[in-house]
Amino acid sequence: MKKATHQQTKQHNRDLVLRTIFANETISRAEIARVTMLTRTTVSDAVAGLLAEGLVKEVGFGSSLGGKNPILLSLVADARYLIGLNLAQDKFIGAIVNLRGEIKQTVELPVHSGNGQQALEQVYQILDELLKTEWKPIVGIGVGAPGLIHTREGIVVNAVNLEWRDLPLANLLEERYRLPVTVLNDSQATAIGEYVYGEHEPDGNLVVVNVKHGIGAGILINGRLFQGDGGGAGEIGHVVVQENGAQCRCGKRGCLETVASAQAVVRRVQTETGQGSTLDEIRAAFEAGDTQVRAAVLDAGHYLGTSLANLIGTLNIQKIVLTGDMTRFGDAWLDSVNHAMQEAALTRMAEGTQLEIGKLDYRGCILGASALLLLDDYSLLFTGAEDS
Ligand SMILES: [Zn+2]
Repeated sequence: MKKATHQQTKQHNRDLVLRTIFANETISRAEIARVTMLTRTTVSDAVAGLLAEGLVKEVGFGSSLGGKNPILLSLVADARYLIGLNLAQDKFIGAIVNLRGEIKQTVELPVHSGNGQQALEQVYQILDELLKTEWKPIVGIGVGAPGLIHTREGIVVNAVNLEWRDLPLANLLEERYRLPVTVLNDSQATAIGEYVYGEHEPDGNLVVVNVKHGIGAGILINGRLFQGDGGGAGEIGHVVVQENGAQCRCGKRGCLETVASAQAVVRRVQTETGQGSTLDEIRAAFEAGDTQVRAAVLDAGHYLGTSLANLIGTLNIQKIVLTGDMTRFGDAWLDSVNHAMQEAALTRMAEGTQLEIGKLDYRGCILGASALLLLDDYSLLFTGAEDS
């Protein structure tokens, strides 16, 4: 094993200190030393660098059991900005986000699906606009895109709706904007958003299932995104659950998406009533107690719950968060999902599983995509002002 150089050790300590400050509203140097098990001198040196970079500020005094009251430190939330993009809605949404995940400004464009080049031009247009705003400096771009993504290479392998195949999206954006770029699947991004900005155990496990036009899950194990060998971990929407079922956009028949997604519910209601209905209209009918509509929505929940039982059996993860359009059907839908999940999974394992609706809506994907830039590496926050 190669010995870490002085510079690497210093950077590691600095990141550890910054991570600890990130995790707390305010904290003293002594407390950082206690939590990180670094020496007080090491902590003081690291903090001096963070102060010089403007990433951290002193915000007053804490209480003490004896001796001097310690100076409290806090992250400067607006010291740097990130851009998060959500390309998996019926419109493209880009946002400027500060270091505490507060959205400062958004730009939206309706998507012209089915034309890959045009979709890419729209991404450029959103980023061009965001980079012209007053929020500076912007230090990175995180993209949550639909479909199968190779995050390490930054390639969109296949996004059917956008007609993107093997698109080197990260490279294209890095060359155009000269900023670090990460690209990941939108459900995985949403999972990171819920994990970082929701209330969850540090270094814990979490599954976030995004149920909207399509269905996908993001899996976090020990606080880290698990993407699988091919990047597609959590692609539960295209597992067949109904033999000889309806045609799916992926080419197969009877995928989970064809029975449990928002699109599936819209299609079923349209077929049964012979009228075109939007999800908003279906929701109104659902609230009004229309029996046909209620059956369509609750059946969709039932199929989803049965699939979640498979996830529980595979991962035994005890916290599952549901996000996406279908969550607008609220507790009645959630109960249907939960009931089917309890029926289909091993009783003891299902009983220990907490199922809830996420709180971040479309922002989860934006926040998660931008947070991933910082999750493993803080180096893009540093301008080199501290030293070198
Ligand atoms: Zn499919």
